Amino acid sequence: MVLVCPVVRPSEAVSGEVPSTFIFPTQTVFLGLNRSDYMFQLSADGSPVLRQIEINTISASFGGLASRTPAVHRHVLSVLSKTKEAAKILSNNPSKGLALGIAKAWELYGSANALVLLIAQEKERNVFDQRAIENELLARNIHVIRRRFEDVSEKGSLDQDRRLFMDGQEIAVVYFRDGYMPSQYSLQNWEARLLLERSRAVKCPDIATQLAGTKKVQQELSRMGVLELLLPGQPEAVARLRATFAGLYSLDMGEEGDQAIMEALAAPNRFVLKPQREGGGNNLYGEEMVQALERLRDNEERASYILMEKIEPEPFGNCLLRPGSPARVVQCISELGIFGVYVRQGDTLVMNKHVGHLLRTKAIEHADGGVAAGVAVLDNPYPA
Ligand code: ADP
Ligand code: MG
Repeated sequence: MVLVCPVVRPSEAVSGEVPSTFIFPTQTVFLGLNRSDYMFQLSADGSPVLRQIEINTISASFGGLASRTPAVHRHVLSVLSKTKEAAKILSNNPSKGLALGIAKAWELYGSANALVLLIAQEKERNVFDQRAIENELLARNIHVIRRRFEDVSEKGSLDQDRRLFMDGQEIAVVYFRDGYMPSQYSLQNWEARLLLERSRAVKCPDIATQLAGTKKVQQELSRMGVLELLLPGQPEAVARLRATFAGLYSLDMGEEGDQAIMEALAAPNRFVLKPQREGGGNNLYGEEMVQALERLRDNEERASYILMEKIEPEPFGNCLLRPGSPARVVQCISELGIFGVYVRQGDTLVMNKHVGHLLRTKAIEHADGGVAAGVAVLDNPYPA
């Protein structure tokens, strides 16, 4: 599969072939607010091993709410006089770390009056998660405005130096909390995205970083030799990263893809079929996966999917609290997300650190789906 990027860096632009408006201009500061998600696979000897589910490079959410959940569980345990247990709940404050990344990018952009532009959805259900980060920024005297793609297309503009302006105010950082699903891109929204992309503002993420978060790239990174190429002379780092990879298989036309399909059809419960989508609810499992693979087997469309080994964590009993539902213990599994922030200026890595975690827990009968899909609930790790 070819991932097409609508923006071309100057070094890649062949004179006369690329319209000058498409040439990547002057963005020199890059900001990543990522969340890498893992499950604990039960290994043959019974010990749990961390396996990566995916990495999110756009709109990685729940850093705000995950900053609040330790206090909720500590409170519940304190009400039950379980003071010792309450003290064991880990502290967690990803909203502060994410905000510090945005603040660093804002500072390096270097314009004291510039704002942060948060691209929000029309009907935003996760606003409180986002506000936690906005409030951390405001506490550092950095102001955030919330606008939709439509607003950008109507009121956004670039000056001759490709500085981005919204409603007449300069924008230092664009933080996308929209724009990760095809349905979020009308023609007008594509135009707005292109305008933002062409600006010198720091995009979180820029289009290349968004594409780096696709399942296809995750699968290609797992090929032997690729990490070695990206981390030359660091065999230990390569080994530690690779140890977290599950089996990932290309479905490109050819022998390798044919073999992967055969294996998945022979043992459907061991695999997940993934399209290039974000936001939950798009993966195919079991009988649905079998039907899709049979339909796609001789079709080039199959290359737009990848196959992944299914991770099987050991289930445990827990209560998933929901308004209106009685509390009862059900069998659950959890997914651990680790928030990572990096800021790069030119070739210099200015910041690269882990800033907190997210634990989501769901009942075992749900193969797919996260918190937004109404399947998983926010949780806290509890060190035994
Ligand atoms: P999305 O980008 O839609 O969030 P994910 O790859 O995170 O896609 O998959 C969505 C959910 O499906 C995950 O949160 C996890 O619960 C489940 N899932 C995904 N991949 C696997 C896998 N390999 N094994 C087990 N469960 C998986
Ligand atoms: Mg996910």
